[in-house]
Amino acid sequence: MKLPYENLSQLRRAIYLWILPFFILTILISFLIGHQLDQVNKDFLVLTVPLFVWFTICWFAIYKRFFMLLFEYINLVFTGFYHLMVFNGSIVSQMIPGFDYDFGVFIVWLPLYIIIIFITLQNWHRLFFSAGFIGITICIALYYWEELPAGAFPPIIQYIVAQVVYVIVLYFIQYILKAFVERDILYKSAYTDALTGIANRLQFNRWLENQMKRAEQQNTTSSIIFFDIDHFKKINDTFGHKVGDLVLIELAELVKENVSESDFFARWGGEEFIILTTRAGEEAFGLAEQIREKIEYHQFTTVVHVTASFGVTVFRRGETMDSVLIRADKGLYLSKQKGRNQVYLMD
Ligand code: GH3
Ligand code: MG
Ligand code: MG
Repeated sequence: MKLPYENLSQLRRAIYLWILPFFILTILISFLIGHQLDQVNKDFLVLTVPLFVWFTICWFAIYKRFFMLLFEYINLVFTGFYHLMVFNGSIVSQMIPGFDYDFGVFIVWLPLYIIIIFITLQNWHRLFFSAGFIGITICIALYYWEELPAGAFPPIIQYIVAQVVYVIVLYFIQYILKAFVERDILYKSAYTDALTGIANRLQFNRWLENQMKRAEQQNTTSSIIFFDIDHFKKINDTFGHKVGDLVLIELAELVKENVSESDFFARWGGEEFIILTTRAGEEAFGLAEQIREKIEYHQFTTVVHVTASFGVTVFRRGETMDSVLIRADKGLYLSKQKGRNQVYLMD
């Protein structure tokens, strides 16, 4: 499985590009509704206009990859500051006068802020930063401790405990994500040939198994093209093992370019390769012949001339994987016997 984002920075960029428009839209909608209800006052504008402007600039900067990291960091500090301001504002203007004992709808954004800390910063920085953020929140609460009415304590304590719990959960979730990424890498390397980067025998066997099942169920035909480089030992002996490796890499690349999307191509081992194709009989023979010619006339960057011998065979109904592979191998053996650099179709 290929990961859609090559690194964390690309992944973060995608997340920001997706979520920032929602913030901008939310601010715009609350402005429009507030305007309808005639609730747009100075306080509202002071709180929302800077956010609206900032998120818009931020989106464009991240979109254009313009000082992306800097914008992400500023965003972290800016929105953190905003959270603290709202926390402080709720205590001062709602709780102390006894109007209300909660933080309003704004509180729904708190988990997201902690998530953003965890995706923006790395390793210990995310813990230090969130500890700092929670620390300041606690300091604000302590500052007003004496003036707070009894009813204000439960929401404040819950708000702070919730922050701590979010941090703990995210701290452990990062290991789950890491395990998934590592599993994907391991999975990928288990089924890929390390030298050429194409599929290996394990992967090919899985393809073959699936294809044989499908052939049984849907009554379709498939063929195996098995090929082996001619006198490869001589290439190694004459030019060295390193050049031999480069030939294998270049040849794999060349063949990959010449098979279609629906064909399965793998390195069987050593200098032997294998193709599983949905073409049958003469068509499969034609594909093998085409590849044989491509190899014969390809100017390899390391050695002048490389040829390969091919064995082609079509699946028979009800036969096993082993029997089809043995027949293809026999075809390859006959090509070698007949003088190499040719294709032998086994009936
Ligand atoms: P034939 O035409 O009969 O196939 O002759 P050949 O020399 O190609 O046949 P043989 O199977 O005897 O030799 C294959 C050689 O391929 C032997 C081995 O050292 C070499 N080889 C196998 N894997 C690799 C590899 O990954 N890199 C390199 N450089 N050589 C490899
Ligand atoms: Mg060989
Ligand atoms: Mg061989």
